[in-house]
Amino acid sequence: MKQVLIIGGGAAGLMAAVSAAQHGAKVTILEKMKGIGRKILITGKGRCNLTNSCDISELVKNMPGNGSFLYSAFHAFSNLDSIEFFNQAGLPTKVERGGRVFPVSDQAKDVIKAFARQLAKLDVAVKLGQPVKKLIVENGRAVGAATMDAEYRADAIIVTTGGASYPGTGSSGDGYRLAEAIGHTIIPLKPSLVPLEVEEEWITELQGLSLKNVTATIICDGKKVADEFGELLFTHYGLSGPIILSLSKKVAELFVTTPGKEVTIEINLKPALSMEILDKRLQRDFTKFAKKQLKNSLHELLPSKLIPVVIDLSFIDADKFVHQITKEERSRLLNVLQHLTFTISQTRPVTDAIVTAGGVSTKEIDARTMESKVVNALFFAGEVIDIDGYTGGFNLQAAFSTGYVAGKYAAT
Ligand SMILES: Cc1cc2nc3c(=O)[nH]c(=O)nc-3n(C[C@H](O)[C@H](O)[C@H](O)COP(=O)(O)OP(=O)(O)OC[C@H]3O[C@@H](n4cnc5c(N)ncnc54)[C@H](O)[C@@H]3O)c2cc1C
Repeated sequence: MKQVLIIGGGAAGLMAAVSAAQHGAKVTILEKMKGIGRKILITGKGRCNLTNSCDISELVKNMPGNGSFLYSAFHAFSNLDSIEFFNQAGLPTKVERGGRVFPVSDQAKDVIKAFARQLAKLDVAVKLGQPVKKLIVENGRAVGAATMDAEYRADAIIVTTGGASYPGTGSSGDGYRLAEAIGHTIIPLKPSLVPLEVEEEWITELQGLSLKNVTATIICDGKKVADEFGELLFTHYGLSGPIILSLSKKVAELFVTTPGKEVTIEINLKPALSMEILDKRLQRDFTKFAKKQLKNSLHELLPSKLIPVVIDLSFIDADKFVHQITKEERSRLLNVLQHLTFTISQTRPVTDAIVTAGGVSTKEIDARTMESKVVNALFFAGEVIDIDGYTGGFNLQAAFSTGYVAGKYAAT
């Protein structure tokens, strides 16, 4: 019976353990925290968006970080396989908007329980509170791992230590150091799916405001780079929410590829309306509220927190009566409504990102088996690899697919 050692009991490690055991191996997981799957517990706001119901080509498209590397793994263990696995492990699932798959119970902790049941059934040994400090390689072959006070030997090792985001969950970038120490190339880490900080201090006035159905456009050095339509959130330091997180990878890249260039984000508060139609809409409101002050006339168009900000940015006296507003002032107002602009000072750090981009180079991993091309009998799975996806269940699916494949080939 082959001995397989798994470093890290998160999404990828747990699936790798199940897969390796199902393929006949004796499996041990070394997990540094006091419990398995700490990050899973906080996924999907505690509900765990465990995969997406789209087809495989869409899974690949939703992994902007080396999606094509995952093609084979997604085929070997697809989103449908994940759903079937969880259903058979006693965790019924449901599909929500955008194909997002959640446990019917809406409880991420039930995902951990489902894994725990499978591990027990397959007789997997789980050793908690065991941070691995070193991988042991002899004659070009991985033969074990060392913690502070013990050495574990095995026929194959799977590194599933996750990324460097939310280090409180245990994923604090250890895997990069472990892999680099034995000759792997680490692609520089960047935050992906991360909030953005802006220079405009008055953004604090908008803190807590969430906007639906808006468009955000990233502009670098005067050129449009990317845009997204959907929901965003104002925070005390800048911007967050689904469309900001999706755009953040591009922003992080711009800061690296075009240092010193100004990066701005333009929010169109009324993207469904052309400038002309929005103008007509504004004129209708102005006729309706002709005897009111401007500050009291925009509540049908904008959330109350935005009204003083938009008026201020349009350089109009908020106390002015609507019937006194000039055409030029109206035009400035329209411009702000469709081009509310912020200068991005930086992304939040990688520790605040939902996902870490960068990591063990995919060029040094066999995409079919997840085995290292540098060290024999060494496998990688999950976020420790240079892969990253959008929100929607894609990152966990990537962890499950690569975990399954690594487990299978480590065992066989
Ligand atoms: C707030 C938040 C919400 C998210 N929501 C979703 C979502 O709804 N859907 C989705 O698809 N993705 C989501 N993600 C992303 C997803 O959680 C990760 O991509 C996924 O967990 C990566 O799996 P992994 O197994 O590679 O790493 P992890 O799940 O991070 O697991 C790594 C494990 O390795 C352990 N470890 C680390 N170093 C060592 C060491 N030296 N020795 C022993 N053990 C070690 C860690 O303690 C940890 O248990 C979210 C992420 C965050 C931060």
